[in-house]
Amino acid sequence: MFPGIRGENPMRIGFGYDSHRLTAGRRLVLGGKEITHEKGLLGHSDADVLIHAVCDAILGAVGAGDIGRQFPDTDPAYRDISSLVLLERVRALAAARGYQVCNVDSTIVLEKPKLAPHLPAMAENIAGVLRISSARVSVKAKTNEGMGLVGAGEGAVAFAVVLAEGENVP
Ligand code: MG
Repeated sequence: MFPGIRGENPMRIGFGYDSHRLTAGRRLVLGGKEITHEKGLLGHSDADVLIHAVCDAILGAVGAGDIGRQFPDTDPAYRDISSLVLLERVRALAAARGYQVCNVDSTIVLEKPKLAPHLPAMAENIAGVLRISSARVSVKAKTNEGMGLVGAGEGAVAFAVVLAEGENVP
């Protein structure tokens, strides 16, 4: 067995992906930040595609399934809920299993609007919930260069990876 794999402070990586359709008549909320735009993301919660990807990455790292398993969209309790509340529940679930997130790296893919001015606030929101420095949270944004459904402005996707460190875990 390699040193560090068993015993002290195991590190676990997690990956998350999510997508939501853009539609008129919805607020656009990304990384817990409301952004002025003529369309928003459609979903049962606030449809914060970035936070959902981060939640799935954390849940993946600690072997707890995904956001759909933890917070079913058939449950009225989660209707229009802020996804930052879901992220806090995911943080607590990971902590209960002995894991703390070390860092997050994430990318949103969205054609419009430009997200660059909002990225620091998104990182602050995520870091605040996870109780880590915002220097440990990376949020990047890209367009899809006009290609495919995302390029046509029909929706947004997000990807996230996290590293989590365990303490006293099997
Ligand atoms: Mg989602």
